[in-house]
Amino acid sequence: MGKVIILDENTANRIAAGEVIERPASVIKELVENSIDAGADRISIEIKNGGISYIKVTDNGSGIEADDVEIAFERHATSKIKKPDDLVSITTLGFRGEALASIAAVSNVQLKTKTKNSDHGMYIEISAGVVKDIWQAGCPAGTAITVKDLFFNTPARYKFLKKDSTEAGYITDLIERLALGNPGISFSLSSGAGTVFRTPGNRDLKSAIFSVYGKETADSLNEVMYNDEFITIKGFIGKPELSRSNRNHQSLFINNRYVKSRLVSNAVEEAYKTYMMKERFPFYVLNLELNPCLVDVNVHPNKMEIRFSNEHDIYRSVFNAINTTLTTRTVLRKPFYDHGDDISNSDARLKTPSPEFSQQALEYPAVKDIQQASVYEDISFQSERVKETELSYVNDNANPKHGSVYQANETDDDRIYPEAIIAGQLFDTYILLQQGESLIMIDQHAAHERIMYEKLLSAYKSRQVISQLLAIPEVVDLTTSEHAFVLDNTDFFQSIGFKYEDFGNNSIVLRGIPFEYKNVGPGQFFIETIDMAISREKKEPAAIADEILYTIACKAAVKANKRLYEEEIRVLLKELAAVANPFSCPHGRPTAIRITKRDIEKMFKRII
Ligand code: ADP
Ligand code: MG
Repeated sequence: MGKVIILDENTANRIAAGEVIERPASVIKELVENSIDAGADRISIEIKNGGISYIKVTDNGSGIEADDVEIAFERHATSKIKKPDDLVSITTLGFRGEALASIAAVSNVQLKTKTKNSDHGMYIEISAGVVKDIWQAGCPAGTAITVKDLFFNTPARYKFLKKDSTEAGYITDLIERLALGNPGISFSLSSGAGTVFRTPGNRDLKSAIFSVYGKETADSLNEVMYNDEFITIKGFIGKPELSRSNRNHQSLFINNRYVKSRLVSNAVEEAYKTYMMKERFPFYVLNLELNPCLVDVNVHPNKMEIRFSNEHDIYRSVFNAINTTLTTRTVLRKPFYDHGDDISNSDARLKTPSPEFSQQALEYPAVKDIQQASVYEDISFQSERVKETELSYVNDNANPKHGSVYQANETDDDRIYPEAIIAGQLFDTYILLQQGESLIMIDQHAAHERIMYEKLLSAYKSRQVISQLLAIPEVVDLTTSEHAFVLDNTDFFQSIGFKYEDFGNNSIVLRGIPFEYKNVGPGQFFIETIDMAISREKKEPAAIADEILYTIACKAAVKANKRLYEEEIRVLLKELAAVANPFSCPHGRPTAIRITKRDIEKMFKRII
């Protein structure tokens, strides 16, 4: 007997399901897209256990004709293309005609549907691809579909599902994007615990952004309106200070379909380049309207990555759209996170905060008086704790003074001695030391960062990261998935020094932050930390903690281009002396470089 067999319909569907249906979020994506294609302007999604045990999508769209109900569940059943040419100009979301068949093959499905003009609706129940029941039913116009026990008959797939809260997070993220892409549709998402979020469906994108990201984000947007011969671009981009440390807050739609495109994010980021630091990413929600012939949506069954036939034109148009918006609308203002970087040296010696610092203080009205001093003054050199140490150093220093004859021999040169002769500060960035027979150049930012990092790390290891309590707690708006993430990972965030509680409505109230942290507003810093943790979710917690502590240290450290007092340099040296080996570099850049007297003599050809 030959070995080739024709797969029965049911087996074929189960195989197809593997391509399209990966997790509860992919089921919901297909169902909601069907609702959108059916012209619904109200879509509600209910889930239980992260959608694994229960999903219900209800819409007020066209409904399915009674005769078509059973057919809709057959593979390659679609009402959306009739002939191959239609594939080229497709504008609806689904068109492969395999979603319903695939979903029904791996779950228990119940569907109720009615068109506006028929006097009765239909009910159908399918389990693992087999129709169990079908009858006429009374129901409102539209479609309600329930999917239970996903993958109950495919244990290998079931095993790949993540914990409920993670699956729920994917779903929330998806519905948020769909809601942003369709501001004319009112979306509501509810889980066992109640309504997660709801958008008004009033056709106003800004209202949808407000529902998803909260007020603070909605208040820092610039509107984009652009068109040229190829393309119309509409939407909102974040003011530069709304930047994030990953691309999670970038949503791109092409003809209202949520997609991902490296080309478009590169073009947007290029336009932001001069407004934003490296490794920072702008917020955007953009819809590109263009002739569907110019887009290949069929690259992958999940239909997320998109390809353009005229990449150069698209790149140029997106760049121009964003660039024009930024140059005409943004009141140029320095982002919060890098204010220390280019304080001009002329002011650096002033003890009073520079005008920039006062401006930042004004922008965080929640942090008052007591906090202001420590949060907005530059670094710990000016805090009371350090002042005391400074004093003792000034005194220690009174005798040997500058230019003393401290000598070290070459063998102990992999340490730095706080008593070394300070030869100067170069470019307001490098400290020059004469130590024994060496010239030592210290990068002041790298050194301070290293000191803080090692302190934080040892505090973290001994579970003693100290929280600095905020004088006035700050309410921080989060997205639904961020909110779920921080509540799921409270222990972790606590272990690195954050203290907070749920404040309802996707917000938390922040009460404490890691003790060394000073440079930007506490809420902003918390959000950045969440971003970082979310984008590293798959790593070991210890590795994430390490990265986060390093970033905290980096942000808290004294910047380059800042003139330091001699006393400040002494404090830095004292602390640096306690660091294991300042000449090695735990993360990338070296802290200090040594040039020996011999090296110098060789350069000047005094010796050969
Ligand atoms: P596709 O969407 O690719 O056509 P699906 O398997 O997702 O394939 O759906 C099959 C067909 O069932 C659709 O073409 C459509 O006619 C009908 N359908 C599915 N869901 C809905 C809905 N919510 N409202 C109206 N019609 C629907
Ligand atoms: Mg579909």
